[in-house]
Amino acid sequence: MNERDSEIMAQLLGEKGYVETGDSDQADLIILNTCSIRAKAEQKVMSMLGVLRKQKQHNPKLKICVAGCVAQQEGQQIIERMPHVDLVIGTQSLYQLTELLDDFGEHPVATRLSKDYQIPPFIPNLRADNHQKSPLTIPFKKFLTIMQGCNNYCSYCVVPFTRGNEISRNVSHILEEAYSLVEAGIKEITLLGQNVNSYGRTNVVSTETIDYSFADLLRAVSTIPGLRRLRFTTSNPKDLSDDLMRCFADIGILCPQFHLPVQSGSNRILSLMNRKYSRELYLEKVAALRSYCPDIALTTDMIVGFPGETDRDFEETMSLLEEVQYHGSFSFKYSDRPGTRSATFEDKVEETVKSERLRIFQSRQDEIGLKHNQGYVGKIFSVMIEKIGEDSIVGRTGTNHLVHIADTVCSYLPGEIVSARILHAGQHSLRGELVGKD
Ligand code: SAH
Ligand code: SF4
Repeated sequence: MNERDSEIMAQLLGEKGYVETGDSDQADLIILNTCSIRAKAEQKVMSMLGVLRKQKQHNPKLKICVAGCVAQQEGQQIIERMPHVDLVIGTQSLYQLTELLDDFGEHPVATRLSKDYQIPPFIPNLRADNHQKSPLTIPFKKFLTIMQGCNNYCSYCVVPFTRGNEISRNVSHILEEAYSLVEAGIKEITLLGQNVNSYGRTNVVSTETIDYSFADLLRAVSTIPGLRRLRFTTSNPKDLSDDLMRCFADIGILCPQFHLPVQSGSNRILSLMNRKYSRELYLEKVAALRSYCPDIALTTDMIVGFPGETDRDFEETMSLLEEVQYHGSFSFKYSDRPGTRSATFEDKVEETVKSERLRIFQSRQDEIGLKHNQGYVGKIFSVMIEKIGEDSIVGRTGTNHLVHIADTVCSYLPGEIVSARILHAGQHSLRGELVGKD
């Protein structure tokens, strides 16, 4: 989501004549687009701001702006602690970036969150950009934000506070953006939201429900001629409908990949987390997904060391991992976030225990992931090319696995789809040989 927001900011700045530089010493303006989901992400921002303070001493004309969730969360305090920061721009003020830059100093903190916020229609200007690029670097896949914010208030999570209420974009704005992306040559779109499953429950214009589900939206986007692949993220399991799961059987271009964050295998912890589903319900959804799409690659998010998590609870997490056999996962040590309910829970788990549980979880996940990868050896996959090297190409399967393919002819372009037979499986990628072009 931040990546997409950064692109939007770059485009808004480009329209005002700003030019991007890869050398931060050359910059007149530096924007840190920040994440505050875990304590570690926030610490990185603070240390980067320390580095930028020195840069500003050498170049007093430099303007520094903090955007994103840390900006939203800390607001005025950033300027108080770091007076070298010129502008703090919150998550709902993104589209006002250039106006705020025009009168630097007038409104150094723009972090108002409104229930009635509307995400403006936005058309990416890829065509203009592509003009100046070599065919090897023209983008072929993009994120498309379909909603912002979240109403779920999982007890550990800062998102409802930093990104505000859940707001779905208008269907027509989303389709317009998707069509324009495909027209400009994009072959793969990933639809983005904190919980795409509840798309349409809250409208942009008012807080009324719109009669269009996420599955309806997927079906509509999937009919755009020229679009080759469709993905989405993320889904809260409590709202995962049968209609959406069936899309994996019905929509040809929907990639066989599903990120279904579980967070814990223990019902007791899930309830303390306010996740509103049980382990049993989660497993039912996994079984249903696999019945519609037997080859689907499942990934998850897992938190270890949530306040009050006992050895027994952690064993439940490990046994869930054994049952589901995820293709991969993102796993984190729990950290307190400001304003969240769990930050006030008393029985915090010791740091050393959290680290040990994370190590155990990750090493078992690595083994399971590798076993899945080894199961692909000998099979043929469609691979969308991402990068062309001197004697190889790198691409991705629909299941989102990276594949390195030896190729000395190199007559392909990024975004094209080839067929490859998998020859070797590593922990993080596969190696394959070309067997044809789609
Ligand atoms: N909307 C997504 C999650 C977005 S946040 C969902 O509902 O699943 C991405 C991940 O960060 C979460 O899935 C969770 O695993 C992790 N996370 C969020 N808050 C955290 C915290 N306080 N400590 C550790 N990990 C956290
Ligand atoms: Fe955070 Fe829960 Fe919303 Fe995901 S669903 S963004 S974890 S509050």
